[in-house]
Amino acid sequence: MNRIAVYPGTFDPVTFGHLDIIRRGALLVDRLVVAVAVNSEKQSLFTSQERIDFLREAVRSIPGVEVCRMDGLLVDFVQQLGAHFVLRGLRAVSDFENEFQMAGMNRKLNPEVETVFLVSGEETMFLSSRLVKEIAGMGGDVSRFTPASVIPELRRRMMARLGRGQA
Ligand code: ADP
Repeated sequence: MNRIAVYPGTFDPVTFGHLDIIRRGALLVDRLVVAVAVNSEKQSLFTSQERIDFLREAVRSIPGVEVCRMDGLLVDFVQQLGAHFVLRGLRAVSDFENEFQMAGMNRKLNPEVETVFLVSGEETMFLSSRLVKEIAGMGGDVSRFTPASVIPELRRRMMARLGRGQA
């Protein structure tokens, strides 16, 4: 059977935490579709196309992984694709409540959609896009947290947002 999973998120921007989940998730299925949610466009630092481009470059060498945009409901996207499950990452207990609620709601919307969680690796368990943005905005080194291709624009935008000007 051709097993397909969907890994949804905002990825604003992609971090090594996301990439760890993608690498490990890809080993469990034949096809892993990373679904970039575009509905939170307004609050995101990067446009959906930028988030997709950063991800595509980051996953280029991982077999069986593709990156798509997702406009509507996750359960609809999963069904249209004929995917077998949704993949999500769990960091600390703090992720649990929100993830638990979303998995439950998605199951209510479509009982056939199962959510599978991978616990984050030790190296990436404290990593979040939000913190990476904050650190970059204050001139910190984020090279251990996010791909090199993301960094220049991330620094520029966050510094502009925080009124710190160019690095
Ligand atoms: P969302 O806005 O849906 O939370 P994110 O892009 O922040 O999207 O995250 C997508 C998924 O990746 C979520 O399941 C989140 O818990 C998981 N994730 C994010 N960072 C990490 C990390 N460092 N380790 C493991 N999972 C992570």
